[in-house]
Amino acid sequence: MTDLNRYHEWMVSQNKVWEEKCFCCGSCCGSLEDPCENLQKGLNGKFYCSVYDKRLGEWRTISGQVLRCVPIRDKIAQGHSWPGDEHCGYK
Ligand code: SF4
Ligand code: SF4
Repeated sequence: MTDLNRYHEWMVSQNKVWEEKCFCCGSCCGSLEDPCENLQKGLNGKFYCSVYDKRLGEWRTISGQVLRCVPIRDKIAQGHSWPGDEHCGYK
C-alpha cells in the first residue's frame, strides 16, 4: 500500500470518527425551537436533514425566518449557541 492510500484510509476513518460524534438530536437545526424547513424526524426519533448533500446556504425555518446553514465546526468556532447545545457531541 502506498503512503497516499494509507493517508486516504486514515482520512476516511477520521471522518467516520467525526461524524459519529453527532447523535442526531437536531437541536443545531432548531428541533427545540423554530426548526429548519429541511429538518425531518425519523421513526427512530433521530433527526436528519432532507437535503444533506446540498445543505449549506440559505433556507427558511418553519415560521418563515431566514436561516443560514453552515458547518457545525463554523457554528462552534464563531461562538454560536442554541437551545440543546449542551448535549452536542461536538461541543
Ligand atoms: S439545511 Fe442545514 S439547518 Fe436545515 S436541516 Fe439541513 S443541516 Fe439542518
Ligand atoms: S446539536 Fe450536535 S449532536 Fe445534535 S444534531 Fe447538531 S451536531 Fe448533532
